[in-house]
Amino acid sequence: MRRIGLLGGMSWHSSIEYYTKINQAVAERLGGHHSARILLDSTDFADIRDLQITEDWAGADASLTATAQRLVNGGAEAVAIATNLMHKCAPAVEAAVDAPLIHIVDAIAATAKRQGHSTLAVLGTKWTMLDGFYTERLEEQGIRTLVPDEPTCLEVDQIIFDELTQGVFTDASRARYVEIMNDLKARGADAVALSCTEIGLLVPPETAPLPAIDSVDAHVAAIVEWMMANVTAIQ
Ligand code: GLU
Repeated sequence: MRRIGLLGGMSWHSSIEYYTKINQAVAERLGGHHSARILLDSTDFADIRDLQITEDWAGADASLTATAQRLVNGGAEAVAIATNLMHKCAPAVEAAVDAPLIHIVDAIAATAKRQGHSTLAVLGTKWTMLDGFYTERLEEQGIRTLVPDEPTCLEVDQIIFDELTQGVFTDASRARYVEIMNDLKARGADAVALSCTEIGLLVPPETAPLPAIDSVDAHVAAIVEWMMANVTAIQ
């Protein structure tokens, strides 16, 4: 089993999900006492949030790059950024370490294709929905994307940072997200990507009004596939 390095803490509420789900998948595959080889570097999210608010993406690149280097120096054989938004820093991280980066967007594209979805609504932070770095990577892989109108994007973003990344999950926000998902479905989305790693904690995919791809689940599947790539050959 290869060792994964996770850039976590963004937020810790979703890093727990990564840790649990990666271990569950490895235990299911190997049985017994088997568990996942993980290095987790869990940051103080307040520092990252300050960089986001000031849109200091160069500062964010420097922070995530240093984290990835720490993980690789510590023995991680690949790295994964356990958040959608901070994949804005993926090019810098990829350039800075001599290890593969398992990209969350590629994992979602692969899941969407496997499930036969060609038009994906994307729900996440305002930068994830509006900046292009995320939706363009999906489009490059043949997935059409839809996002809410700009005021709705800002509302979705506000709920993420005022509530979800602080571990607050309310019925009112759940109902509002479901309403927004219904609008996207009416506009032609086959499925919705829960492209913020805390959204699945608010609206579990099986409760969404259209097929939903949880970015944590898609990313975990890709991470575990990479971790286990050599295992079947040995058995
Ligand atoms: N976890 C969220 C995401 O997946 C947002 C937190 C962050 O800024 O990284 O985009």
